[in-house]
Parts: sequence; C-alpha cells; structure tokens
Amino acid sequence: MKGEAVDLVIFNAKIYSLDEGNHTYQAMAIKDGKIVELGPDRQILNKYRYTKSVDAEGKEIYPGFIDAHGHLFSYAELKLGANLLGCSSEQEMIERVFDYQNKTKRKIIIGSGWDQSLWENSSMPDNRRLNEEFPNTPVCLYRIDGHSALVNRAFIDLLGDFDLDIKGGEVSIDNGKLTGMFIDAALSVLEPYIPAYSSSEIKKQLKLIQKELLGYGITGVHEAGIEFEELKLLSEMVSDNELSIYVYAMLNPSKENREFALEKGIFNLKNLSVRSFKAYVDGALGSSGALLKQDYLDKKDYKGLCLMDPDELNELAEFCLDIGYQLNSHGIGDSAISIILDMCSNIYKKNPDHRFRIEHAQIIDMEDLHKFSDYAVFPSVQPTHATTDQRWVQAKIGKERMSGAYAFKSLKNQVGMIALGTDFPVEYTNPFYTIHAAVHRMNNKDYPDGGFLKNESLSMEETIKGMTFWNAFASFDEGRFGTIEKGKRATFVILDKPLNRQAKFIENFSWKTYIDGRLLHSLE
Ligand SMILES: [Zn+2]
Repeated sequence: MKGEAVDLVIFNAKIYSLDEGNHTYQAMAIKDGKIVELGPDRQILNKYRYTKSVDAEGKEIYPGFIDAHGHLFSYAELKLGANLLGCSSEQEMIERVFDYQNKTKRKIIIGSGWDQSLWENSSMPDNRRLNEEFPNTPVCLYRIDGHSALVNRAFIDLLGDFDLDIKGGEVSIDNGKLTGMFIDAALSVLEPYIPAYSSSEIKKQLKLIQKELLGYGITGVHEAGIEFEELKLLSEMVSDNELSIYVYAMLNPSKENREFALEKGIFNLKNLSVRSFKAYVDGALGSSGALLKQDYLDKKDYKGLCLMDPDELNELAEFCLDIGYQLNSHGIGDSAISIILDMCSNIYKKNPDHRFRIEHAQIIDMEDLHKFSDYAVFPSVQPTHATTDQRWVQAKIGKERMSGAYAFKSLKNQVGMIALGTDFPVEYTNPFYTIHAAVHRMNNKDYPDGGFLKNESLSMEETIKGMTFWNAFASFDEGRFGTIEKGKRATFVILDKPLNRQAKFIENFSWKTYIDGRLLHSLE
C-alpha cells in the first residue's frame, strides 16, 4: 500500500537541483505547490500516491529562470508603439513609423527601439528627415536604451517655452537650432506630452509578454523601476489572477512611491513583492550618458551625466535602510559606480546584509573592485549588453578602461555571487542568449569570433546560478525558490533540449514551465 498522496510526480528527468551539494535527481513529488521529495524514479514512484505524473523523457530540469533586470512596462509600451528594434538605417526607421501610423492613426506617434550604432552613419541622428516626412504629426522616438529620444519639429512645437539648461540632461543644439535629440533628464520635458496607453491595452500586452517569458522558462522578473500607477496595475492583475510569474518590483523614487513604501513597508501580494527602490545615478553608455571618471574618448571635456548627486543618493539610501528596503542603483560609468560604492560603505556599517545592488556595473575602475566585497554590494549585470556594446564601447572609453568593462568574472570572484538579467526590452528576453553571452561572450550569431573580453566569461554553472539562485538571493527570495529542494516552491523549467555547452549558438525553449506546481506553459 502506497503512502502519502501528492498532486504531481515528475519522473525520468535530469533534475539539476543547484542545492549545496549540486545534486541531480531523477524524480520529484509535488504537493500544494511545494516540493515534497526528490530521489530516484523507483523511490518516488513507489512511495507516493498521485493523480498526475509527467514522464520528462530524460530532459533537463532547472529552477525557473529569473530575469534580474527587465522592464515589463517599457516592453508593453514598445509593443504598443512603433517598434523600431533592429532598424538598420534611418530610412527603415521612418518606413516603420509610416507603417505603424497607417495601421493605428495615432494623434501623436510614439516609437522606440532605434539604435544608430546599427546604421551606416552611426552618429546621433537629428530630426531633419522626420520633419520632412511628418510635418504636422508630433513624433517621439525613443532610443533603444530609453535614455534619449528623437522628436520632430511638430512635437517640439507642443512644448512651448522651456529651459534648455537641465540638470542631468541635455537638449542637443547644433548651429543654434534644436536637433530634436533629448537626453536623460531632458526627457522629462517631453513626458507631459507623451500620451498614455489605456490600462486595458497595457494589461493585454503584459499577458502576451508573460506568455513569451514562460515559453523560455522564465518564472520571475525583477522589474527595474516602476511608477505608482504601474504598481497599481500590477496589483490588479495579481489580484485578478492574470499574472502568474513572480514579480519583484523596484520602485522609482517618486513621492507617491515613497509614501506607499512608508505606509506598507515590505509588501507582498501573492507573487508580487515590493521591498526595493531604484536609483538612477547616471545615464547609458550608448548615448554617452554614463558618468565616467575621465573624459569620453569620442567627446572632449565631457564625462557624462550625473543624474543624482551623492547627497540625494545617501538620503534615499538611508530612507531605504530605515524601512527595511533594498536600494538598487543604476550605475554604468566608473564614476557613478564609485559614488554608489561609497554610499554603500555607510550602509554596510549599519546593516552588513543590506544586499544593495548596482544595476549594470558596466565600466568599473578596477581600483574600486575590492569595495564590492568590502561593503557587500551585489552586482546585477546583463551579459547580452556586453555582446551588443562590444561594437562601439572601445571607441567611447579607450583601451585602458576596457580592463574594467563588463568584468563579470572579476565581479563574481570578488563578491561570490552575481545576478544576471537582460534589461529587456533593451535586449531580447531570451535567456539562452544570456547564457551564450555569459559563457562564450558571443551573441546569438556567434559574434565576435573567439568571444568579447573572453577572460571575463562565467562558467556554465555560475551562469545558471546567476539566473536562478543568486537572483533569488538578490531579492531576498532564496528561502522560497532559486533551487529545487524539499520544502521550496515547485517552480522550475523542463528544457526542450539539453543546455548547450558548445561555442555555437543553438535555439532552445522550455518544454514545460511550472510555477508553484502549476503547469503554465507546454510546447505540446
Ligand atoms: Zn534597465
């Protein structure tokens, strides 16, 4: 007579538990959304009574992937606007805007995703072409990193008079005329005129995005900066059971979000958790907004943008510390990273387990590297940024500073852990691109040959931990998921193909994705 009844048994699998001993198992029993036991097929199949069982056909099982840095709302908005991802020329960008407008007939056109580094003339564009093609309809096109936008004359006309001198931002001027480029803090001038999509439009897109993520085995996202209205919308979706992935949302430091955090403290609503703020200390490297210690190589007497001075950052950090929140600071340039590390030295004295993160940590002054471990600062990086940016990064920062660029291995060795993400929609959500970029330092076209700064590559084991257990740790969730162990949530992915360890990219997907023991995606 068999013993205990469970809900589900998975057998004939290769389960990579990622537990302390790195054990692999054949089978597991699941009840009430949690893992009851792992072991050999015979043991699990004989011991339990079950109504449902899945023969995994020898496939590999990993803890569900967690993207440590993604933007659900920007991705939804990208899908609702003119999608300019991958445009290979300004001409193609304009054609896509035309196609979009023919279909949607918007009063104001918003697009995003262009990247001039993919064009033959890779200098920043101006709005001359847009003005010719769209003389009357306002158009605003965000660059892929979301840190700058190109607007046409008709859009500028909406703005009326405004101050051109913007702290932490730049309104680009050429020969006394606005070029249409607005960078970093200058985007705030445009914001009041950007029409909002309806919440039903956004919810519909978020559901499609969730489907895409589940198809890759992604069961959790750290949403890297949301507004109060977006938090409300997410909460509604969670309450209505429309969102099943785990979302760890970082709050933008707005007045409303601060009030929310003060009132609620650490906030958990089913699979939605809020206990962190996002700080934006500098801009992005691609639009020369990252704050460097020395000048940009391609822009004399210019070091980038400081979006938050140390006093402001320290104030926000203390606020977070007081209410038990984490602070995740966007730091791309070595100077911004230095400012954040100094802030963390104070925080570390008060709480050594603060887990404050540096998002991106792209260009590090290697003299500062020790501070990551000295002050227990958690690096959160995006391997696909390395393989995308390698085309132009050296032209911006020069050879010498490359030793601290995308230095994931050095960071991991220094801290012992590293969180991995994509920064979608800046990069694709596909976690197999992340794995290939982290392990082989190549993109999905196996470029560049031999890998970009190959000495900074992570091992496969480190990469998978950086997409599961370490990401769970980076959001205080290591007790709930990130490994496949008795007592933890049954949140895992059965891969369609085994993990590819070769230096040649092979497409892969999830065969089945489970969250809390529930099957949410199946290839068949
Ligand atoms: Zn981001």
